[in-house]
Amino acid sequence: MKEAKEWVKEQKVSIEEILFDDLYERARERGVERVRQAVDEGIVREVAMVSEADCIMEIFSYPIARMIVASVESDYLVRRYALAEAKKAYESMKNEEGSFIDYLAREMGVEVSGNEIYFTDYLKYAPTWDINWKLVNREMRKGYVLLSKSEVARLIQEAIRKKIYNELAFAFAPPEVKKVFKDEILGIKNKVIFKEEKRKVGEVKEEGFPPCIKNLIAAVKAGINVPHVGRFTLVTFLNAVGMDIEEILKIFASSPDFNAEKTRYQIEHITGRISGTVYATPKCDTIRTWGLCYPDEYCRNIRHPLFYYRRRARK
Ligand code: SF4
Repeated sequence: MKEAKEWVKEQKVSIEEILFDDLYERARERGVERVRQAVDEGIVREVAMVSEADCIMEIFSYPIARMIVASVESDYLVRRYALAEAKKAYESMKNEEGSFIDYLAREMGVEVSGNEIYFTDYLKYAPTWDINWKLVNREMRKGYVLLSKSEVARLIQEAIRKKIYNELAFAFAPPEVKKVFKDEILGIKNKVIFKEEKRKVGEVKEEGFPPCIKNLIAAVKAGINVPHVGRFTLVTFLNAVGMDIEEILKIFASSPDFNAEKTRYQIEHITGRISGTVYATPKCDTIRTWGLCYPDEYCRNIRHPLFYYRRRARK
């Protein structure tokens, strides 16, 4: 927040002091811990702060963590870290007064008034492909959408995630950071590579995809308007068979109305990267009611597209 930034400026502490002075050792340790928690747990955990010194170390640990993230030079880590910090903020917001949440929202550029949010901001930050978040399912008053306190916090979480990601995506850390945190950076890098590799394990055999999924892919690529439920089915299926976000994005990228940021956000939500919920692929019965089922001879006795894939991909 602006106040924290200004406070840090007023302390007139140099980067050299933060990196080398014994006084800031705890802040450096906590900075490393923030990044490790982001990688390992997907959330930066709160720490108990009993004294002013604890608070100061916590504040300084944040720029240190950001410098470490920038030094690893991994877009995957930047995304994961931005989300982990945003989740931490969400957890903190649960215990805050409404007035503070309003203040925080304003700072993030989100127009909130009590538990009401202006609809343009709502559309910017809400996962609106989720039926519960669709604007038609929300009560609106004079352009403002009514929400619960935790829903407001959830939208601010997304604003924070975007802000941190945008700030870090092209950030460079001073070269000394790589020297001071040489071992830690190497350890984090290895973990990140391992996590990315793990997601890629298990080659995806597209020839084993059921006809409903093949049809959806063909429609998306041809720029045919695929209904929301079709896009949802496709993303949940591709995620379940082990495709990573970049690969799924590539499929949608051939669509003429492709919007990279919006599509990525939707994919990250459906696959649980942002929402924390990995949405399941719908059953055949459900897909049938949506008019998206085009069975072939292998669909006999199949009740779920993933069963089809498992059976066919083994061959
Ligand atoms: S029966 Fe199931 S797997 Fe086969 S096309 Fe229909 S929805 Fe897809």
